[in-house]
Amino acid sequence: MKMPTTTQVDTNNPDDHACRICGRGVSDAATWWIHVVDGGAMIAPIFAPDDDDDPGDTGWHPIGSGCALSIPKTHRKRWRP
Ligand SMILES: [Zn+2]
Repeated sequence: MKMPTTTQVDTNNPDDHACRICGRGVSDAATWWIHVVDGGAMIAPIFAPDDDDDPGDTGWHPIGSGCALSIPKTHRKRWRP
């Protein structure tokens, strides 16, 4: 699916405790993770394998519980693989 772009604050924030979608801080208890590919344009389904040879595969990123509501459960999981 396409990466949501509506409320982005700072998508380059390297902090593991910042939501990848909006840039706001997230607490560990409320954290979902998404697998961001295509250089940040797309969210891969959770069953898609990591592709370390693909430079567009940016790995797994945390998102807050609010932003998680806009992501189908097929595209987010509770913790890193
Ligand atoms: Zn967010």
